[in-house]
Amino acid sequence: MHASDNLAEADRLTTVCNSCRYCEGLCAVFPAMEMRRAFDDGDLNYLANLCHGCGACYVDCQFSPPHEFDVNVPKVLAQVRGDSYRAYAWPGFLQPLFDRNGMAISIVAALSVAIFILGFVLWHDPDVLFTDGGNFYRLMPHNVMAGIFLAVTAFTVVALTMGFRNFWRDIGANGLKGEDTPSLWQAIKDASSLRYLDGGGVGCYNEDERPTDRRRIYHHLTFYGFMLCFAATTAGSVYHYLLAMPAPYDWYQLPKLLGTLGGIGLIAGPIGLLVAKFKREPDMLDTARLGMDTGFILMLLLTGLSGMALMLLRVTPAMGILLALHLGVVFALFLSMPYSKFVHGLYRFGALTRYAIERRAGH
Ligand code: SF4
Ligand code: SF4
Repeated sequence: MHASDNLAEADRLTTVCNSCRYCEGLCAVFPAMEMRRAFDDGDLNYLANLCHGCGACYVDCQFSPPHEFDVNVPKVLAQVRGDSYRAYAWPGFLQPLFDRNGMAISIVAALSVAIFILGFVLWHDPDVLFTDGGNFYRLMPHNVMAGIFLAVTAFTVVALTMGFRNFWRDIGANGLKGEDTPSLWQAIKDASSLRYLDGGGVGCYNEDERPTDRRRIYHHLTFYGFMLCFAATTAGSVYHYLLAMPAPYDWYQLPKLLGTLGGIGLIAGPIGLLVAKFKREPDMLDTARLGMDTGFILMLLLTGLSGMALMLLRVTPAMGILLALHLGVVFALFLSMPYSKFVHGLYRFGALTRYAIERRAGH
C-alpha cells in the first residue's frame, strides 16, 4: 500500500519500465530503478527527485498515451515530487502553504513587506523618501536592514535543513562517511552541470519532439545569477563591516560587478524558464502545481528586475520606492523558500548524492 494515488501510479510505472529498460541510458532514474525490485514510498520519492523532467522518456516511450499502458514517467514523477515537497516541509503546520497558489502568496508577501517599509519610512521622515537619492542608509540604517535579513535567513536555513533531513531519512539514506567524498563530488558536478537535463545527450524536450538545450541554459542563467547576487550581497557586507567601505560602489568594485552580472542572469533566466513553461507539452506537466512553479520563477524575476532598477535609478528620487520594493521582494523570496519550488534544488542534490553512492557501491 502506498500513501497516495500518485505513489501507487509511480509504482505501477516502475514495474513496466523495469521490464522494458529501453530508457536506461537516458538519465539516472532508470539505472536507479533497476537496482531495486520492490519500491516503498521513500524509493519512489527518491526516483521522483532524481528526475529532471527532460521529457526524453515520454517522447521515446512506445507505451506513452494514448497507448493503453499509459506510461507517462515525467508527469507522474513530477506529481510525486510535488507531493514530496509538501510532505517534507518543516514545520508541519506550514505544509498547507504548498496547496495555495504560490504566485499569489509571493506577491502578497512582497507587497506587504514593501508597504511596511514604505510606511515606516513615511512615518520616520517622509522627505527622505523622495529627495535623498543615492543614500540607502538614511532610509533604513544598515544594521536594521542586516538584522531583518539575518533573522529571516536564519529561519529559512533551519526550515530548509529540517526539510532536507526529512527527505534524507525518508529515502533511506545514511549519514555521509569519509569514503563518500568522491560520490559527493560527483553529485556536485552532476547538479552544477544539470547533467540529466540533457535527454540522454540530445537535449531537453519541451513543446515538441525536437530536443534543445534551452531549458538547461535558462536554468543555468537563473541559478548562477542567483548565486552571483548572493555573492554580491556577501561582498557588500565584507566591504561595509571589514573594510569600512559603505555603499555606493563604483561599477568596477566587486559588489557592483557581481550584482550586475547576477541581475542580468536573474532576469534572462526566469524569463526563458517562464516562456518554456507555458510552451511545454501539457501532457508532461503537473498542471495542478503550475502556480507553485511559476510563483517561484516570478519571484526570482522580480528580484532581478527590482535589483537592476534600483542600481540604475539609485541617484534619482525613485530610489526610496525602488529600495522598498526590492527589499520586500527579497524578503518574501527568502521567507517563502522552504515552501516553494526552491526546495527542488536541495532534494535533487540529495537524490544525486544517494545515486552516486549507490553507483560506487556497485548496487
Ligand atoms: S518509459 Fe517507456 S520506453 Fe522507457 S523504460 Fe519505461 S516503458 Fe520502456
Ligand atoms: S523525464 Fe528525463 S530525467 Fe525524468 S525520468 Fe524521463 S528521461 Fe529521466
